[in-house]
Amino acid sequence: MSFSELILKAKEYLPPEKLAVVEEAYNFALKAHEGQVRKSGEPYVEHPLQVALTLVELQLDASTLAAALLHDVPENCGISVSEVEALVGAEVAKLVDGATKMGRLSWQAPDKGAVARQQQAENLRKMLVAMAEDLRVVFIKLADRLHNMRTLDALSLERRRGIAQETLEIYAPLAHRLGIWELKWQLEDLSFRYLEPRKYRQIVSLIAARRAQRESFITQVIQILRTEFERLGLKAEVSGRPKHIYSIYRKMEKYSSQGKQFDDIHDLLALRVLVSTVPDCYSVVGVIHSLWRPIPEAFDDFIANPKPNGYQALHTAVMYLGTVPLEVQIRTREMHHIAEYGLAAHWRYKEGEPKDMHFEERIAWLRQLIEWHREFTGAEDFLESVKTDIFIDQVFVYTPKGEIKDLPKGATPLDFAYRVHTELGHRCIGAKVNGKLVPLNYELKNGDIVEIM
Ligand code: MN
Repeated sequence: MSFSELILKAKEYLPPEKLAVVEEAYNFALKAHEGQVRKSGEPYVEHPLQVALTLVELQLDASTLAAALLHDVPENCGISVSEVEALVGAEVAKLVDGATKMGRLSWQAPDKGAVARQQQAENLRKMLVAMAEDLRVVFIKLADRLHNMRTLDALSLERRRGIAQETLEIYAPLAHRLGIWELKWQLEDLSFRYLEPRKYRQIVSLIAARRAQRESFITQVIQILRTEFERLGLKAEVSGRPKHIYSIYRKMEKYSSQGKQFDDIHDLLALRVLVSTVPDCYSVVGVIHSLWRPIPEAFDDFIANPKPNGYQALHTAVMYLGTVPLEVQIRTREMHHIAEYGLAAHWRYKEGEPKDMHFEERIAWLRQLIEWHREFTGAEDFLESVKTDIFIDQVFVYTPKGEIKDLPKGATPLDFAYRVHTELGHRCIGAKVNGKLVPLNYELKNGDIVEIM
């Protein structure tokens, strides 16, 4: 990849005058890293260039691209942040500084004693604060980690495993929480490849062996849908959706824990339909459900009830030919952009264009999280609660006023009461879910409306 390609891509969405700082940053990085090589043998500057390329794909602003090009300059070249600032200005320097500081945080396994745990808790706290200050720093670190994962072969076996483990435990869930699907699945698949090489290869060959059959099914389905949409005058783009290796692995694990066999190609059939408007989304679901029988409970309306990270779409699954389960995601092109790029999509708006009005709403969970964790003084408590909140599966429930609350999977009405207010938790004597009385150890489900008595 050359620098000119980066500029070419940036020009697609940034005005030319914004690109000067990116060029200055590159020339600076080129000089600073001169003579340095990576373990893989390539010139060092190739690494920051690749990091910037990932971020240009997410259509981030010029300051983020410049900071990505300079992100290893303080650590690797002994150049101070104030020197960086003198050259490219305060905004870029601040991002470089944030990325450098975040890079120094280390995540050790929690079983290495109390001191290590305290250190890890402190690091998590620092990361949360950095995120709340400027999310662009986190985007740079995610892209940095992605390129390091892609070039992991140059490191020793032990280092590879350590980095892959950390990526799967910290970085991939972070990408998930920020809604950046495009980075999340790549981080997961790469981690999985190094942590479980045998299982990884097994799934790759499983997918390959059944490719022909799967593709012929997908082609048939797409043909049927296109004809039907055309007949009804619905403008929709239909495409096959690749399933990612780690998500297939997770599904296989789930099956085997339920005593079922996963040798069913059909679980890999997935489609995506893109349309222009929200009403078209619902029309498409109607068409699909009238062609094939929907699988009960597989329909999710994330348009009316978006996930807190901003994700919106309709999900359904139907039985094709009566026996073949087929998963379909339906969304507008705008929703699609946000689904792929998550909170990073906020920065793609050109000057003068309306800003993303829901951005503040979407990062509100983050601010709330920090507020919430300020109450904890003990490092151990803090560590446990942050890990639960960021890195464990969530359920999303509502207050009677329709306010959304996210809780860790397995949470009960009592946890909900404490999340709303400590006092409410203390005084809670019972709870209603969706209007019905439930025991206080009831396990909350997505979309439940919870009323505390
Ligand atoms: Mn780096």
